[in-house]
Amino acid sequence: MSQDQLALFRTEVSAWLKTHCPASQRQPIVREEQIWGGRRRVFPSADAKQWFEACRDRGYTAPEWPVEYGGAGLTPEQAKILKQEMARLQCRPPLYCQGLWMLGPALLVYGSEAQKREHLSAICRGEIRWAQGYSEPSAGSDLANLKTKAEDCGDHFLVNGTKIWTTKADEADWIFCLVRTSDASPKQAGISFLLIDMASEGVSTSPIQLISGESEFCQTFFDNVQVPKANLVGELNGGWAVAKELLKHERKMMAAFDGMLEKPAMSLLELAHYAVGVDQDGRLGNSELRSDIAQHLMREQAISQLGERIYWQGKAKQSDPRLPLLMKHLGTTETQTKDELILRALGDEGLSMEDECVPEGLRKMVKQWAFNKALTIAGGTSEVQLNIIAKRALSMPTSEVKS
Ligand SMILES: Cc1cc2nc3c(=O)[nH]c(=O)nc-3n(C[C@H](O)[C@H](O)[C@H](O)COP(=O)(O)OP(=O)(O)OC[C@H]3O[C@@H](n4cnc5c(N)ncnc54)[C@H](O)[C@@H]3O)c2cc1C
Repeated sequence: MSQDQLALFRTEVSAWLKTHCPASQRQPIVREEQIWGGRRRVFPSADAKQWFEACRDRGYTAPEWPVEYGGAGLTPEQAKILKQEMARLQCRPPLYCQGLWMLGPALLVYGSEAQKREHLSAICRGEIRWAQGYSEPSAGSDLANLKTKAEDCGDHFLVNGTKIWTTKADEADWIFCLVRTSDASPKQAGISFLLIDMASEGVSTSPIQLISGESEFCQTFFDNVQVPKANLVGELNGGWAVAKELLKHERKMMAAFDGMLEKPAMSLLELAHYAVGVDQDGRLGNSELRSDIAQHLMREQAISQLGERIYWQGKAKQSDPRLPLLMKHLGTTETQTKDELILRALGDEGLSMEDECVPEGLRKMVKQWAFNKALTIAGGTSEVQLNIIAKRALSMPTSEVKS
């Protein structure tokens, strides 16, 4: 597509957004108003519903997915322009969903035509909310150790076992799961990828509480659950390849997670000025904090440029597979560095998530600090990421490395 065509596309997209995105949906997103879709979806307002439906009907909930599966069929350049214009006009993301970020991209590669038609469109339309069933009590970093068993019973699999840390499984309609279908060696060769309706008989969930005081997770149990054979994605015992494809997208999403969250009441710099004040030269009053914030902002800029580099390499079909490995580790670590700087700037006001004497916006920042501890664990821990980087990106000796 020529530069002129892209410029025209930008003008059209911008006009469409201005017409269809109500003013209330051009405000920074707040957590309670995110739209996660699903059979039990609720819209926080008529404007939110209108904005979601406008995007859904134009394929903008999944801009790059093919039109026949509910997307808008945009090229990567067009999708980037749409993202830029949405950010410029402060349009809220129309839909949040693990199906959109993780399952969909894997189904596009490994799903059968029938699976793509059934599941991708339902994801784009926000009709089905998905959960991820990978981790088990004895299989987190060592995922291939998973034990949830799917027994071949002719026309269906019989699934028994348990998954842990399943985010919002109690609110999900379906769950994509890694299951053991063979005791072959290596362990990866006996794993299959199944799609399971949470409404199936024998599926149950039990919430797990976090330090932030909230309950994002469940343990999910499968007790003699019958799953149709048509719900197998990819080859029988070939689930590891699907799992890895999906993890690529999960890690990409995790690296960009900060941008999807509710924006804090103040930027880090505004907060530091509010909390610490300025010296006689108009600079931030605490020189050590000033220097650490400056270093953080430089690293943040460098990470964002690394993201740009990965994008352009992909576009030129010259991707360096080592760079996305770095992104998840660098992006999530830097988010946590920012959280620590926020807490330092807050001083005493950062000591509580509940003290009503502290303004709500500041308490939410402390809550976010607690929640973001999870970022270097979810989607593969930092230690394991560093092992993979050592092995694949830096070609370091592998004897102690497990990935
Ligand atoms: C916010 C959040 C959301 C999540 N959502 C989901 C979800 O929806 N679905 C799902 O299936 N899972 C989910 N998880 C689980 C997540 O994938 C696991 O927590 C993660 O893979 C780590 O596994 P584990 O908790 O069993 O820790 P373990 O694997 O037991 O690791 C414990 C510690 O040992 C370290 N360690 C382990 N192996 C090595 C090694 N070889 N070298 C060096 N250090 C090592 C780890 O880095 C970690 O510090 C979520 C986790 C979080 C935090």
